[in-house]
This record gives sequence, structure tokens and C-alpha cells, in this order.
Amino acid sequence: MSKFVFITGGVVSSLGKGLTSASIGMLFKSRGLRVQMLKMDPYLNVFPGKIDPYEHGEVYLTEDGAETDLDLGHYERFVGQNLHQCNSVSAGRIYSDVFAAELEGKYKGATVQVVPHITNAIKERWKKLESPDVDIIMVELGGTVGDIEGLAFLEAMRQFQLERPAEDVAFVHMTLIPFLRASGEIKTKPTQHSVEKLRGIGIQPDVLICRTIVPIEQEHRRKIALFCNVRPENVIEEQDVEYSIYQVPVMLMEEGVDQLLGKRLGLTLPEIDLTRWNEMLEKVRTSEESVKIAVVGKYISLMDSYKSIYEALTHAGIANRVKIELLKVEAEEIEENGADAILKGVQGILVPGGSGKRGVPGKIMAIQYARENKIPFLGICLGLQCAVAEFARNVCGIEGASSLEWMEAGQEDMSKAVVVQLDQKRQVVTSGGVRRIGSYACWLHEGTKSRAAYGQEMIRERHSHWYEVNPKFVDQLTAAGMVIAGNNPDSNLVEVIELADHPWFVATQAHPEFTSRPVEAQPLFRDFVAAAKAKN
Ligand code: GLN
Repeated sequence: MSKFVFITGGVVSSLGKGLTSASIGMLFKSRGLRVQMLKMDPYLNVFPGKIDPYEHGEVYLTEDGAETDLDLGHYERFVGQNLHQCNSVSAGRIYSDVFAAELEGKYKGATVQVVPHITNAIKERWKKLESPDVDIIMVELGGTVGDIEGLAFLEAMRQFQLERPAEDVAFVHMTLIPFLRASGEIKTKPTQHSVEKLRGIGIQPDVLICRTIVPIEQEHRRKIALFCNVRPENVIEEQDVEYSIYQVPVMLMEEGVDQLLGKRLGLTLPEIDLTRWNEMLEKVRTSEESVKIAVVGKYISLMDSYKSIYEALTHAGIANRVKIELLKVEAEEIEENGADAILKGVQGILVPGGSGKRGVPGKIMAIQYARENKIPFLGICLGLQCAVAEFARNVCGIEGASSLEWMEAGQEDMSKAVVVQLDQKRQVVTSGGVRRIGSYACWLHEGTKSRAAYGQEMIRERHSHWYEVNPKFVDQLTAAGMVIAGNNPDSNLVEVIELADHPWFVATQAHPEFTSRPVEAQPLFRDFVAAAKAKN
């Protein structure tokens, strides 16, 4: 059946373990193997989607509506396949499943323990991914070896390798090799300690991937190999990339990591085909012109909170052969200083998703600026809702037009609520409306920019929102010049809006950033950047 590659990390966090796992998955996929990915997070939150983006970066949304760790985004973008709820699991989820089973009496009164109950539940998650259609399952454990929360996962790995034939399970351990500038040398001791810790748990890594800023000479590879009990050729160096994170798989292939793992797992690997990937990298390397795009958000100071948006913009840049010069704008800055002071000279404005009312006035000001100054605009989810409110206020003349989400509870003014919650019967409600989460169809209308971008009449995108454009206001909005470019085919809810007398003004209720890939830019992002490029 399927083979397993377990990836752990040591020494420090933020080594890019997710990127590395995704890259190895991508190499196997490019050799024609069928790959599955699993991210295991040792934290006790049951749903990663509930963690504040300040704490943990972006929530990555899958097509089946799972709100997962952002590493799933790396997996999807590198491996180029859609993942689901089963591809992400937290310790909290495992524990809560075990507690639920215990309450239901499934353990028949036995004492419930970490070993074997939690470890069995972890192993069940791995086994669920096995199938005759999957050659390799890559399992990445978040955190670093030595974290208390990760111990049950490592113990489960130790047990699992003994339950399977030796050539079915391989271990990759990722570490940091620090470089001391003063003495001009690299240090292998932290790696030795990290592997020691892993071996103390009963896991002997097969391959070590060493993050380093300088090349690791043979002599050091031999030393690492000797002290860590691995073959010298299995010590892989992963240097910082020069110009794109998408170089990582190519670097790892040059180090032979896929071949080593293939051999270890007893697989004959077919030839690799990286044609499209290398073409994409070549475009990145040779693009000179840059396009200045402002992203006006609320968690802007955080590196990873709009990860997929930034990646989708990068992909769109690649498709248009331009570099994206990102201007990250905190919406409240616009409220303080005015749109012109901050956005003057940008070629495109993007307002991403979000919730709550903080930052909304600034986003609305940015949208008005984009509309009036004919700057290409892409609105995403909350970005669409802000665009509708802006248009209702400033073009339709509905003073104070707003979303129910931004009104005080108990003081809602329905005559101004252009964005609302709807119940099952599509009646406006002030709470308990239907949340749309996961993938939904959208019917795009002929003659619109969105239809031209997708080149298709019926598309699907991922959603995550409670609020919708109020159907009662649609006639008023369209009479004033807003174009409804896409509707949900079942409910007729508004999915995409555009402005007719504007070079490129499109907003979608969905989150198209999650479906963008480096070799296949998402159509709205691609055309948004094309329009921005055309604006001088
Ligand atoms: N807060 C808004 C809603 O729930 C928008 C959500 C989003 O942008 N994902 O509808």
C-alpha cells in the first residue's frame, strides 16, 4: 500500500518545514507518483480556524470548507492538488475525538491513556489516507522535537515504523546549521542534539535536511553523518533561496532528496518532469518591470496573515511577467491620513477578506479612491461587501449604507443594510444566518470582465462568510451602474460585482486566493495584475 515519509523539525521553529515538505511532495508528484499530504499540529486548539491570525498566521480554507493551518496552502501550491479536512489535524482534534469516544463508552471502561489511546487515534489518521491510489503520504509534524505537545505524535511514529515493513516508512529531520560570522564557521552541535533527542524517543532519521546560509562542505557533512548516525550522502543542505520560494524543490532535487527517499522506500522513480515549473522560475528570474499593488487590510503588520493573497499576487505577477511591489497598508492609516496620502501612485488596490468593523472605514475610503481614480481594484469577500457599501453610499446616495456586521446589535437600520445575514429561506435576519463555507458554484454573465478572466460560464470558488449582498438592494445598485457579474446558480445570491465605467473593478464574495498556483495563476488575480500593469 502507500509509503510514509515523516518530517520532523529540530533546533528552532520557522525553518520552513512546511515549504520543504511541500517541495518534496512536489518532486514525487513531478515523477508521476500519487502523493497525499498531512499536517499535524501539536497545539490543543480543536479548530485552527479559530486561532487569532495574530497568533498563527492565515487560516487556509480547503474546498470542503475545512479551516486549516497555512502549511496546507504551501502543499496545495507546490503539489498542485486540492486538499481536504483529512489533510490537517491538531492534537486538540485528536484529544477531543478520544474524549468523545470515551464518553460514548467505546473504550468499555478501560483506563484511557496517551499510549495507546491517543497514539492509536493519531495512527488512525494516517491510515485513513492510505489507499491503492496513493503512493506516498507525507506527514509533517509541526513544532520542534522536544516540545511537550509533540511527544504523543513522535511516539505514534515510533510505533508505526515497527508495525510496517522497514521500506514503507522513512524519516526526514530538518534542522538549522548556524553560521558564526565572528569565527567564520558553521556549527553542527545543535543538529547533533536534536537528532539525539529524536533517537532517544526511538526514531532514527534517514535523511537530514540542514537549513544553512553557507554551503556545507564534505568534511562537515561527514561529521554530521557520523554524530547523527546517518549516511553522509543523506545529509542534505538547504540554503536560503535567491529569488523565489519556488526554487526550493529544484534545490532539493539537485541535492538528490527525492532519489534518496525513493531508494530508501524501495521505489523505482520514474523520470522527473519539471518543464512547467522551470519555465515559471525562468519568468520570475527574468521579470524586470514591477507593478505597485496596495493591499489594504487589518492584520497587515503580520507577515503571514494574508499569505495566500500575497502568493496569488506573486503568481499573477509571474503570469504577467512582472514583479509585484507590495504596499501593505493598515486600513486605519487611511482613516487617519486620507487615501491620497497613502495610495497615490499605486497601480492596483486589493481589499482582502476579514471580519468585524475595525478598519472598515479605511477600506471603504480606499475603494472610493480606486473607483474615482480608475485604479484597478480587486475586492475579496469583505472587500466585496465594502465595495457594495461604498457604491451604495457614494453613488446610489444611500447615506450611511452599511453591513449588518458593522451596526450595533439592537440598533440595526434595515433601510441602510446593503449587506446582511440571510436564513435558509433567504430572509434577512440579524443573527443566526446561514454561513457559506467551502466550495460554491458561480454563474458568470456574458460580457463581464470576470467571465473573460475565467473563460468559462460556470466556475467554483471557496467561500467563508456569514454576510451576503442584500437581494433587496440589487435593483438599486444595478440601476446606478453596478454590474452583477456572477450569481450563485442555486440561490441567485450575488457572487461577483463589477463596475462598467472603470478599467478593471471586480469584487468577489469568494476567496479565489486559495486556488491560485505558481504555474497557473488564478484568473481574477491574473487579470487584476494585467490591468494594473497596463496602468502606468
Ligand atoms: N465578515 C464577513 C462575513 O462574514 C466577510 C468574511 C470574509 O471576508 N471572509 O461575511
